Amino acid sequence: MDNKLFTPGPLNTKLSVKEAMLHDMGSRDKEFISVVKEIREELLLLAGVTKDEGYDTVLMQGSGTFGVESVISTAIPADGHLLLITNGAYGDRIGEMTKVYGIKTTTLSFKENIVPPAQDVEEVLKTDISITHVAIIHCETTTGIFNDIESIGHLTRKYNKIYIVDAMSSFGAVPIDFKGFDIDFLISSSNKCIEGVPGFSFVIFRVSSLEGCKGSARTVSLDLYGQWAYMKNSNSFRYTPPIQTILAFHKALESLKEEGGIPVRSERYQQNYHRLIEGTEALGLRTYLDKRDQGYIITSFLFPDHHNFDFTQFYEKLHERGQVIYQGKLSDTNCFRIGNIGQLYLEDIENLLLAIKEVLNEMGVTF
Ligand SMILES: *Cc1c(COP(=O)(O)O)cnc(C)c1O
Repeated sequence: MDNKLFTPGPLNTKLSVKEAMLHDMGSRDKEFISVVKEIREELLLLAGVTKDEGYDTVLMQGSGTFGVESVISTAIPADGHLLLITNGAYGDRIGEMTKVYGIKTTTLSFKENIVPPAQDVEEVLKTDISITHVAIIHCETTTGIFNDIESIGHLTRKYNKIYIVDAMSSFGAVPIDFKGFDIDFLISSSNKCIEGVPGFSFVIFRVSSLEGCKGSARTVSLDLYGQWAYMKNSNSFRYTPPIQTILAFHKALESLKEEGGIPVRSERYQQNYHRLIEGTEALGLRTYLDKRDQGYIITSFLFPDHHNFDFTQFYEKLHERGQVIYQGKLSDTNCFRIGNIGQLYLEDIENLLLAIKEVLNEMGVTF
């Protein structure tokens, strides 16, 4: 049996999703083209937007970062100015990109356990009128914190800025009011909450915000405008698509619908999360974030304050038991992470809790 992946992705997927990959198909195959068409329609439905309202979506080969980079390197023109709001490694990664492309960037940086307050953002938008774009991570997977993309969205509307949201680890499981939050570009990928396998990312966007970006891309392969112009009506890719991954994703979307859509998946993940917190608290573990800021996708746990605790051993012993947790990513605090998304149910959380209890006992970490 496969290991249980308590990570932010790749995740455990359904057998039917894996089975959907058992086909050879050409990239110009009619059957494949109609799969891409259906995926694009379904993604717009999930986002609660329509083509008639001026929205569209593009699939982009590569992992989630490739999708983020395609937006950053295409949507912000040479004379653009990005306000980057960051409180973790994924936000900082956008900063790395703008540096490489020489995009003028103002960075509002917060500690990893702080939800960036909207007033701080407004202060910058009010004083620096040269800002054209605003970017933020929704669920900052570094900690699992949920950022307030709603309030910041209202500000981007008020100050008339293009709004870029990295909703990689939340889209499909956390309700997002695309129009209400005034989002221009939202990025997510195949192997997070939709529960597909890795291989591509997708961008859902307001057409009027991409339309003017012809020729503004800094790369050929990640040119989001180029990809859209090509895919828009043809539902085919400029370069080789990850066919099997796309077939799996098509199945995964079907499966999400069968489960009851975003509200029901959200409910399952929340149940997983609540049981995880209850169980780990009973074992004496503490979370890094304040509960009120903690999302229900992934949680950072502080290393137990005990001289016998050793993370490598903890990880290995859990792995031997088929339970895969994730290392921490915090800049200044020792943490490990436990995700509760993917094909995970309450019984899987119970098994993980039992395994953690056993391993802590074996290591002599007792409270
Ligand atoms: C997973 C993730 C990404 C993309 O990471 P990849 O390793 O490229 O798939 C980007 N942003 C966030 C918030 C994520 O959780």
